[in-house]
Amino acid sequence: MAALSNVTRNSKVLIQVIGKNRTFSCSAVQHGSGKRVGFIGLGNMGGPMALNLLNKGNSVTVYDVYPEAMSKLQNAGAAIGHSPAEVAEKSDTIITMLPNSTHVQEAYAGENGVFQTAKPGSLLIDSSTIDPSVSKEMASLAEKKAMTFIDAPVSGGVMAAKAGTLTFMVGGPEKEFANAKAVLEHVGKNIVYCGSVGSGQAAKICNNMLLAINMVGTAEAMNLGVRLGLDPKLLSNIINTSSGRSWSSEIYNPVPGVLPNVPASNNYEGGFGTALMMKDLGLAQSSATRSNSAIPLGSLAHQLYRLMSVRGYAKKDFSSIYQFLQKSENSN
Ligand code: NAD
Repeated sequence: MAALSNVTRNSKVLIQVIGKNRTFSCSAVQHGSGKRVGFIGLGNMGGPMALNLLNKGNSVTVYDVYPEAMSKLQNAGAAIGHSPAEVAEKSDTIITMLPNSTHVQEAYAGENGVFQTAKPGSLLIDSSTIDPSVSKEMASLAEKKAMTFIDAPVSGGVMAAKAGTLTFMVGGPEKEFANAKAVLEHVGKNIVYCGSVGSGQAAKICNNMLLAINMVGTAEAMNLGVRLGLDPKLLSNIINTSSGRSWSSEIYNPVPGVLPNVPASNNYEGGFGTALMMKDLGLAQSSATRSNSAIPLGSLAHQLYRLMSVRGYAKKDFSSIYQFLQKSENSN
């Protein structure tokens, strides 16, 4: 049985045990993918995702423009790259988790970008939330170099990134989905194939537009109720057992003190920043313009989040719309 101790964590192995007059074999599915994974963008989401990849036995090389983010991962056992190109040199699969479209274009197609050094056959997975047209542009550049680029934005937030329970919405060639899933399963729970490249982003943009609309509505209703003299916990219990219920009212209530462990009860720190929500609503707006779709409430939510961003809420969690409404009224 000594062979068992030599089993690497990174591979699917056939173990053959030869005992007295009998031979049997069994297969052991190990955690790691056996591939070298590069990770670019180690912020609120990317940091814990890269850590989970390491903890699942992958060999991980990381890069972030912010050196402190890299040293945390280095201490946990990751190798450091000094540019996206250096990460690509040392990896077969590369995951990016960057703020917006411009950062993604720079990380892949920039001077020291992934396309400079990645090998033909590399799998490039972008999990940032960006414009679907940029995902398509990157996929076409990748194809010219015999690489595959897929979009795989996530839902679930920082808590799910830490717990490894993210949902991935994947767009790209269907034949590559199994390969992407094998890696993404180390950081997520639901890996959903949405269609050709860009369709993961399309699904993500629609979800986040609805999330913003629901959050604005929840904040408005809660604020009105409090001003009418209702206890916010009581009102939230009623809403959550009535037809006004949503994820924003039940799981992520925007009123401080209604729920523990949500940004609203922590001065709107952590969570999903107002600036990122504003960006996602901007993506919904341009996608709606391109597809000639009417999104009146999405547009209104976009303007509200823009206003909040310039009024000092950019880094606060997006549920701070409740505080923004309250303060707007109090200043009258
Ligand atoms: P973040 O700002 O915390 O992290 C981004 C990281 O990328 C930072 O560490 C930054 O230094 C780094 N970076 C920027 N430009 C870079 C470059 N050119 N090369 C290398 N590193 C670079 O953002 P986040 O909250 O981790 O979000 C990342 C993406 O995930 C965004 O597109 C966001 O919309 C999406 N997202 C976020 C959440 C959330 O709850 N925070 C949830 C779902 C999706």
